[in-house]
Amino acid sequence: MSVPDVLRGLRAAEEAAGRAPGSARLVAITKGHSVEEITEHVLQHGTFPLGENRGQELRDKARALPGQDWHFIGPLQRNKIKYLAPVTLVHTLEVAWQAEEIARHAEAWGRAPDVLLQVSNGERQKHGVSAENLRALYDQVRQTGLNVRGLMVMAPYDDPAAARAVFADTQARAHDLGLSELSMGMSDDYPEAVRYGATLVRVGRALFQ
Ligand SMILES: *Cc1c(COP(=O)(O)O)cnc(C)c1O
Repeated sequence: MSVPDVLRGLRAAEEAAGRAPGSARLVAITKGHSVEEITEHVLQHGTFPLGENRGQELRDKARALPGQDWHFIGPLQRNKIKYLAPVTLVHTLEVAWQAEEIARHAEAWGRAPDVLLQVSNGERQKHGVSAENLRALYDQVRQTGLNVRGLMVMAPYDDPAAARAVFADTQARAHDLGLSELSMGMSDDYPEAVRYGATLVRVGRALFQ
């Protein structure tokens, strides 16, 4: 698999779902890969948002690859938020203090990233806001002045039926909140996520094989 394969897969999934071409965008997850590998496997195929899950790694790669659009997809630790200056979209906001901390740094950065709220997939996973607390978090984050563009979820890995239920549920919650961006789907399940309205798919492994 490679970037062109995944782009073909995305177009086929959009078509199968009756969606407009380009309505589901690839976020290339580059964590763990060197600048040389990113250049060879991703950037030679076009321009894509690049997703990283560790603050320092993101900062260093953003210095080495200026002009790219950086997204953050990792856990937001208080002492690492300072590294997120180059980020335009944070996918993983799950607690109100994270929004306050990002908004505080954004004053020094001169601009703020947009954010997605990560929702819990209900199961084994420790990350994400619960269904009961989603509306309250949404209100709290908006009070910090950050722009909430949508929701993000990580589906269970090994259970396609459960993954479909999680995608459908997340789509419904975004709709209830009037949010248009849905970050869901990874290497193994992005076509399924597109069926349920994903607008951003976070694909890593499949780009580098
Ligand atoms: C690593 C990662 C991905 C990409 O997963 P692959 O299986 O490599 O496609 C997507 N989302 C998050 C949050 C990740 O940490």
